[in-house]
Amino acid sequence: MAETVELPGRLAILPFRNKVLLPGAIIRIRCTSPYSVKLVEQELWQKEDKGLIGVLPVRDAAEAMAVLSTGSGTDPAYQSLKSSSDVVDSQKPEGKSLEGPIHWHNRGVAARALHLSRGVEKPSGRVTYVVVLEGLCRFSVQELTARGTYYTARVSRLDMTKAEMEQAEQDPDLILLSRQFKATAMELISILEQKQKTVGRTKVLLETVPVHRLADIFVASFEISFEEQLSMLDSVDLKVRLIKATELVDRHLQSIRVAEKISQKVEGQLSKSQKEFLLRQQMRAIKEELGDNDDDEDDLAALERKMQSAGMPPNVWKHAQRELRRLRKMQPQQPGYSSSRSYLELLADLPWERASEEFELDLRAAKERLDSDHYGLTKVKQRIIEYLAVRKLKPDARGPVLCFVGPPGVGKTSLASSIAAALNRKFVRISLGGVKDEADIRGHRRTYIGSMPGRLIDGLKKVGVCNPVMLLDEIDKTGSDIRGDPASALLEVLDPEQNRTFNDHYLNVPFDLSKVIFVATANRAQPIPPPLLDRMEVIELPGYTPEEKLNIAIRHLIPRVLDQHGLNPDILHIPEDMVELVIQRYTREAGVRNLERKLAALARAAAVRVAERNALRLRKDVQQPVTSSLLDHARLADGGAEVEMDDVTVADPAVPNALGAAPTLVVDESMLEKVLGPPAFDDREAAERVSSPGVSIGLVWTSVGGEVQFVEASTMAGKGDLHLTGQLGDVIKESAQIALTWVRGHAMDLKISGAGGSGLLDSRDVHIHFPAGAVPKDGPSAGVTLVTALVSLFSQKSARADTAMTGELTLRGLVLPVGGIKDKVLAAHRNGIKRVIIPKRNLKDLVEIPSSILRSMDILLAERIEDVLEQAFDGGCPWRKPAKL
Ligand code: ADP
Repeated sequence: MAETVELPGRLAILPFRNKVLLPGAIIRIRCTSPYSVKLVEQELWQKEDKGLIGVLPVRDAAEAMAVLSTGSGTDPAYQSLKSSSDVVDSQKPEGKSLEGPIHWHNRGVAARALHLSRGVEKPSGRVTYVVVLEGLCRFSVQELTARGTYYTARVSRLDMTKAEMEQAEQDPDLILLSRQFKATAMELISILEQKQKTVGRTKVLLETVPVHRLADIFVASFEISFEEQLSMLDSVDLKVRLIKATELVDRHLQSIRVAEKISQKVEGQLSKSQKEFLLRQQMRAIKEELGDNDDDEDDLAALERKMQSAGMPPNVWKHAQRELRRLRKMQPQQPGYSSSRSYLELLADLPWERASEEFELDLRAAKERLDSDHYGLTKVKQRIIEYLAVRKLKPDARGPVLCFVGPPGVGKTSLASSIAAALNRKFVRISLGGVKDEADIRGHRRTYIGSMPGRLIDGLKKVGVCNPVMLLDEIDKTGSDIRGDPASALLEVLDPEQNRTFNDHYLNVPFDLSKVIFVATANRAQPIPPPLLDRMEVIELPGYTPEEKLNIAIRHLIPRVLDQHGLNPDILHIPEDMVELVIQRYTREAGVRNLERKLAALARAAAVRVAERNALRLRKDVQQPVTSSLLDHARLADGGAEVEMDDVTVADPAVPNALGAAPTLVVDESMLEKVLGPPAFDDREAAERVSSPGVSIGLVWTSVGGEVQFVEASTMAGKGDLHLTGQLGDVIKESAQIALTWVRGHAMDLKISGAGGSGLLDSRDVHIHFPAGAVPKDGPSAGVTLVTALVSLFSQKSARADTAMTGELTLRGLVLPVGGIKDKVLAAHRNGIKRVIIPKRNLKDLVEIPSSILRSMDILLAERIEDVLEQAFDGGCPWRKPAKL
């Protein structure tokens, strides 16, 4: 057996540690020990004696020798090598003791060195050589001997010779196995072929190399464990080798498939982002080509410049920079990019220190301005001047916030803007109507999608200065619900101690609101939460008398409306009596907003006429005159939709001569009817409605000022129940109960008891209705009106149509004072009512009412309900009659 002469190679390669050389494979090993190198040289130069073969462990010889030096073996098949100090590599790790003897495997592969190359010498003097070896055939070690500086072995060949091989190949089992192996190998190759072109050569290999060789070659090319390599080396039997190789190739095939699946997925994602990247690069290139430099980088640089010039306080600046750094690291497509960007834009836009320049306040000029902008309102203007005077003396005075309270259209907003003009500050209006969410004031935190700053910060951004006059409009319309309490946020805004560091959730850094002058408006003071009201000084604007309205119209509204429509008094004249008619018949409001609208409608119609006239003049030679009734068109536009304005041609300033020469258009009653339609109100309404018994006229107070409210009572067969309709609140329902109780209790006195002296409600129900059924109503002030309606019903006597009343009723018949007397009296006056019954204790409120109105009306004071009834019926209260007789 011990023949080495047939071995084609001169080196015995023994497996060591993690590597095995298999026949047919080529490996490259690094040698650092002179021992290994010498051995290789010998082999290359064919110097060694025949019959012996140099031993070279596959693993780096230096390490192997170090290991070998400690080993000792007894088994002849596992010969230990003796320690030899001169072969130990200089790089042997000092003190690295290896546990136990290391045994050589008793099988190896004879190899041929194909190449030896010397590496660069390291500073330590060590040189690394690289040896390329080709495995030739398996052998088993018979004897291992030290020979000078290296080892030789006597080995016996294990692989079959060619002749033996040819014989073995006849075995049908082997044929089957090799076919199976080849099929699996082919499969592997075709998969690999898709990836790399070089596999073609492997295919050739498959056809030319004998199958037993192929098995080794294939397995040698995989990454498999040392143990598996060893067992492959030990598979001397051909069948065993083929089974093992097929199994390994198949396993490799599977792992490639799985890896491919994974990589396909990854590739899909990768290619998408790569595609985006590519497109972006292209876009950048196109932009550069077009000289369009506003790409992201430039954008961010511009943003940073803007931020620098915004004058942020140091802590905010630091915060902003941090955010900018974060933004720079993001891709524009990343989800947080745009939100982060708009946040920084806001920081840069906010007026951290930008302020309108304040001049020395000229109180006289301010007064003149207020007077020229607003008619009447003497007290209000006086209070504003006082407010300004205090500011002038002490600019940082923390006076209360002015709050104008009154119905719509009485000039609250325009007064606030006049204050801004007087102080030479910018004006910004924040509408709080319907705000129920605290986040509307304070902003949403940026963690929410679509978050934005609150209305205050947004308003400041828009106005662009930190010291504007900010109007908190309709502060009474904020409400609280589960989304928080806006009023508490407003409290912080209006509190001079806290608003220095107002914290908007979106902004997340404090903003100083202390330079803002706040002015608020409300329709009513009552719904404003008391703590908020406490910070404000309420200035009431109760509404205008018809005379005041007339003056406002003539001095302010008409000139403004004419100007807005490109007209002037020479083109359109609205006489005073026509304005009065508009006030009386077309508007019934506390303010002048509708009046302004109606006047605008007249102006539009006039503008149409003028345009029509111009068109006729300019197209003299045109056969067909313009006949379409533009006037009607304008009338249609009056349905409150002022947007239609633009459709109507306004007088052309390019033809002044034509206009100048034209006669002035004077508004008359027929034009009023044509443009505004038939009158919406007249004074006969009350008389008609009160003509039948059971109806009385009350005065109520709503958010749009005072109003006349009819109360209707009716009776029918029933069981003595009281029915109430007209969207009534609890308080007003109770008032109705009280009224009915009082009337029932005094039925005898009133001589209204049921037929034959029976109870008032015996087999009768009473129904009380408050018309305008869709409008919610509440409050105690209808008490006296309810009694009047019931007395009128049961006595079958109509109440006076010229008398309206208000007052709370107690069970005992006392009349208690109520609020809003001025508004109510004005409302009565507007509705052509001549007599108003009010509680005696409301006498003091009459001073607010213009004397012209008081002169034109009878104000009757009532202490008890009997006083009311006395005045409400013609000929006095029914029950007093017998006493008089
Ligand atoms: P509010 O804010 O009270 O609802 P606005 O301030 O908007 O009312 O006023 C409505 C219109 O009426 C504005 O055009 C305003 O100029 C005008 N106006 C109201 N009161 C007066 C007044 N006393 N003098 C002149 N114009 C007035």
